[in-house]
Amino acid sequence: MTDKKKKVLIIGGGFGGLFTALDLAGDCAVTLVSDSEHFTFRPLLYEYFSGEVEAWHIAPDYKELFDNEIDFVRGAVEVIDFENQTAKVSAHDNLFDYDALCLAVGGVTNFWNVAGAEENALPFRDVVDADALRNQMVRALDAVSPTLAPQDVREQLTFAVVGGGASGVELATKMSDLLVDAFKRRGLKGEPRVLIFEMSDRLVPGMGEDVRAYVEKTLLETHIDVHLQTRVLEVKPSGIIFEHNGRQTELAVAATVWTAGVKVNPLIEKLDLPKDEGGLILVNQTMQVKGFENVFALGDIAKVEEVAPVLAGTAQLANQESALAVNNIKAFLQGKELKTKSFEELGEALSLGTHNAAVLVGGNVVGGALARDARFALYTSRLPTWHHRLKVGASWFFEGTTPRPLQPLGFN
Ligand SMILES: Cc1cc2nc3c(=O)[nH]c(=O)nc-3n(C[C@H](O)[C@H](O)[C@H](O)COP(=O)(O)OP(=O)(O)OC[C@H]3O[C@@H](n4cnc5c(N)ncnc54)[C@H](O)[C@@H]3O)c2cc1C
Repeated sequence: MTDKKKKVLIIGGGFGGLFTALDLAGDCAVTLVSDSEHFTFRPLLYEYFSGEVEAWHIAPDYKELFDNEIDFVRGAVEVIDFENQTAKVSAHDNLFDYDALCLAVGGVTNFWNVAGAEENALPFRDVVDADALRNQMVRALDAVSPTLAPQDVREQLTFAVVGGGASGVELATKMSDLLVDAFKRRGLKGEPRVLIFEMSDRLVPGMGEDVRAYVEKTLLETHIDVHLQTRVLEVKPSGIIFEHNGRQTELAVAATVWTAGVKVNPLIEKLDLPKDEGGLILVNQTMQVKGFENVFALGDIAKVEEVAPVLAGTAQLANQESALAVNNIKAFLQGKELKTKSFEELGEALSLGTHNAAVLVGGNVVGGALARDARFALYTSRLPTWHHRLKVGASWFFEGTTPRPLQPLGFN
C-alpha cells in the first residue's frame, strides 16, 4: 500500500457492505454510503417483531459501529459513472470518487405484480415493517370485544402470510404465539387464525427433509393453516383472494404480510453492467463484476455462477463473499494476485415461535427451547464488531429475551 491510502467506496451497509467496510478499515480510505442510518441483522427481525430483542440489538446505527477510520455517508446512490469512477449520492452536491467500488445494495420486496399487493400487503424487511405489522395486529385486537362469539373473533383476527419459505414460516409462528398470548391476556374467546399461502407443493423449499418435517409438525401443533399449491391473486385493504385447484376464494383478513419474494434493488436495474435474466450482476469467482476489474459486487445483487442455489439470497453467503471481497479489493489495489473461494452452507436455523426453534446440528434437527438458545448464541457471534456483540450478549444474558405482549394501544 502506498502512503496515500487508496479510496474504496462501498454502496450499501448490509451483510455484504458493512462487513467489507469493517474489515477494510485501516488498510484503505473507506467510505460507506447507505440510505439507512442503521444496519439491520435481518435473521433476528422476527425476534424484534415479537419483542424478544430490542431495536438497538439488531439495528445498531452505523455511527456506533464505526470508529473514525470509516466515513459514513447517509444517502441513496443514484448514479454511478464507471468511466470516471464517481458516484452521485442523494442530498450531496459533491461526487464521491473511488479507486475500487463495492456494490452491496441488496434486494427489495418482490410483489410479483399481484393486484393490490404493493399497496395493501405489508413487507417484512426492516424494523419499520415489523413495527407496522405489530401496530396493525394491536389495532385489530383492540377492535374485538371479549363478549364477541368465538367464530366472529376468529373472523376478525385472521392474518395472512404470503410465502411459505423460511421467512413466512418464522413470521407466522411468531404472529401465532403473540396472538394466542394476547387472547389469554384480553380474555377473548376462541382462537386467532394465521394462514400461510405458498404456491409450491412444500414449505421451506431448499431446506432439508428433517427440518421440513419439524416445521410441519410445529405448524400443525400451533394450528397455523397452511395452503400449499395456492396462488394469491389479489390483496385488498382487508381481504385476500386466492386460487387453489382452479377454485377462487375470498377471505377477510386483518392484515396480509408479504414474504414471497425478493428482487434486485432498483439502482442495479439502472446500471449498465452484465446481468443474468433475473437482473443479478454477473460476478467472477473473485467477486469482480465481469469486465470491470475495479468494481466488486456481492450479496443479494450478485450472481456467482459456481454458488449452490440453496445459498443464493442469504446472509451467510453475503458474509462469506464479503471476506473474499476484502482480500481481493486489497490485492487489486496493491497489484497482487486475486483469490477465488468456494462458498459453503453453514447450516440451518429457524425460529418457530417465541419459545421454539429448529437448528440443524451435525445432520440432526434439534428443536425446542434448547434450539432457541443455540440460535441466539449463534447469532450473537455473527453480529458486527466485538464491542456490539459484547453489549448485546450481556443484555440478553442479564435482561433476558422474553417476548413483549401485544398490549392495547396506549398501554405501558
Ligand atoms: C426477514 C428476513 C430474514 C432473513 N433471515 C435470514 C437468515 O436467517 N439467514 C440468512 O442467511 N439470510 C437471511 N435473510 C436474507 C439476508 O438478510 C440477505 O441475504 C442479506 O441481508 C443480503 O445482504 P446484502 O448485503 O446483499 O443486502 P442487505 O443486507 O439487504 O443490505 C443492503 C443495504 O443497502 C442499502 N441500500 C439500498 N439501496 C441503496 C442505495 N441506492 N444507496 C445506498 N444504500 C442503499 C440498504 O439500506 C441496506 O443497508 C433474511 C432476509 C429477511 C428479509
